[in-house]
Amino acid sequence: MRSHHCSELRESDLEKSVKLTGWVNSARDHGGVIFIDLRDREGMTQCVFRPEENPDAAKLSHTLRDEDVVTVEGVVSKRLEGSENGRMATGAIEIVAKDLKIVNKADVLPFQLDKELSNEDLRMKYRYLDLRRGRMSKNIRQRSQITSAARRYLDDAGFFEIETPILSNPTPEGARDFLVPSRLNPGKFYALPQAPQQYKQLLMVAGVEKYFQIARCFRDEDLRADRQPEFTQIDLEASFVDKEDIIGLVEGLLGSMFQAGRGIEIPKEFPRMTYREAMDVYGSDKPDTRFDIKITDLADVFAGTGFKIFKNTLDGGGVVRAINAKGFATITTGQMNRLNEIAVQAGLPVKNLAFIKYENGEYKSPLWKVFSDEEKTAVTETMNLEEGDIVFFAAGSRDSVSTILGRVRSECAVMMDLLSDPDQFNFLWVEDFPLLMQDEETEEWVAVHHPFTRPHPEDLELLEKGDFENVRAVAYDVVLNGYELGGGSIRIHERDLQTKMFKALGVSEEEQELKFSHLLDAFRFGAPPHGGLALGLDRIAMLVSGEDSIREVIAFPKNNKGADLMAQSPCEIGPKELREVYVQSTYKKKPPEQA
Ligand code: ASP
Repeated sequence: MRSHHCSELRESDLEKSVKLTGWVNSARDHGGVIFIDLRDREGMTQCVFRPEENPDAAKLSHTLRDEDVVTVEGVVSKRLEGSENGRMATGAIEIVAKDLKIVNKADVLPFQLDKELSNEDLRMKYRYLDLRRGRMSKNIRQRSQITSAARRYLDDAGFFEIETPILSNPTPEGARDFLVPSRLNPGKFYALPQAPQQYKQLLMVAGVEKYFQIARCFRDEDLRADRQPEFTQIDLEASFVDKEDIIGLVEGLLGSMFQAGRGIEIPKEFPRMTYREAMDVYGSDKPDTRFDIKITDLADVFAGTGFKIFKNTLDGGGVVRAINAKGFATITTGQMNRLNEIAVQAGLPVKNLAFIKYENGEYKSPLWKVFSDEEKTAVTETMNLEEGDIVFFAAGSRDSVSTILGRVRSECAVMMDLLSDPDQFNFLWVEDFPLLMQDEETEEWVAVHHPFTRPHPEDLELLEKGDFENVRAVAYDVVLNGYELGGGSIRIHERDLQTKMFKALGVSEEEQELKFSHLLDAFRFGAPPHGGLALGLDRIAMLVSGEDSIREVIAFPKNNKGADLMAQSPCEIGPKELREVYVQSTYKKKPPEQA
């Protein structure tokens, strides 16, 4: 239906007879002569309908409306001098139309495509129109480019692309499972995979050696801007590898993806940081290193302090730490309130953050007067406190102080406009994660990554001894600008060690047999050492596209209630269909006035 795409024709094509098909992006009447911008996926071309060329086509062109689908045949001509459009790739030429066919008329659209629309529900209801917009079409293209680049890279590196079941069993990835009743097995359910973790490990036992999959994963959890109930991982696993092999592979993989999607070269090797350093210095296990606000420990400064709050904290084994937001003494009351709110959400037990502001040669702070002269000097030196700075303090347990100052640090960076360079990409690896952590409520030990993660060889004894807190994992996360792009580990491949790990996690022998016997059995038959990682494709696509929500890079995303407003999913299922799968709903519909 076309001889060229709408972005293809240039001055070098003058006098060519061409045929273009696409959407009427806009139509303008200039004294009886109709000009349209004809749009397809690739771009736009101006077409002009003059009665002297073809009176019928010119007449028909008066009926054109935005988004009609049309075919235009005509001749490539130079635009009149002065009417070129430098912003259009085809802006030097236009098509003088000899023929016009209306392929399909469009109704008036529910919203204009050339304006940003803040009503997200409306965008989602008509997602197929929303996706026609330039920005969305660019995002879809970039996502496709990075996905194909990943496929090519992994294929070149000898990885086999293998699908694993979607209808499977619950997986211990830490979220709730989506369940699917089985009609053929009354009373039984499948669970949708939270990740293909066990299958990919079984593929290693199967001798595949190098596996990858662009894998859909399902997790029933509360949704945020960077979470969806279904999302996509570039999942990979390899045998006979160590941590360095996986890290090197993934650095190259991300390099090829950013090159393909954004045309930029990223560093060949990323900096590394231990989990402890990330938490202590950046207050996050996915530190944003684009700005240089670091958390500083003040134990030495306040070792002999008379200030009760700090003294009690330090005596009780806690920490006193601070950050210096350099040059941010200009903070407004509104911003200060917002920081206090964030700190309270992050666990600050009092309403206001302790701070010292040094402005116009004066220290402004309720704290300053309680510090001794030595403490004042030491704070000034340690924190490099200079004119125009503001220092925020937190005292408490090591983890809670990290969380609070980590959040405050990030928010300060936003307020101070330190994150506005769209081309700054700070990749890094966080390694040496703890293997286990204690659930605050139940006090049970849970896996920080998942139960198949290998304990650090130097810490095996600690695991035996039950000193769970100090056991590190051979696990690594790759982080970009404060987002976790992916994570993985070297795995346990020995039945004994896996059983020990389950024991530490409080998984009884019966439960092990019931849920994991396939894996434990497989480990009896010559399982190779193996490890891998999974990258969050949606998040990577979001960062490549410069968006701040993964919804902008998923063709048909769900809203924050897990609903697809276009397809109206999830939907009600009738009693007959439910009976067929042996399910009875206990949900009682509320009367409309309460709903
Ligand atoms: N399956 C893990 C996850 O989804 C990633 C991995 O360990 O490879 O987080």
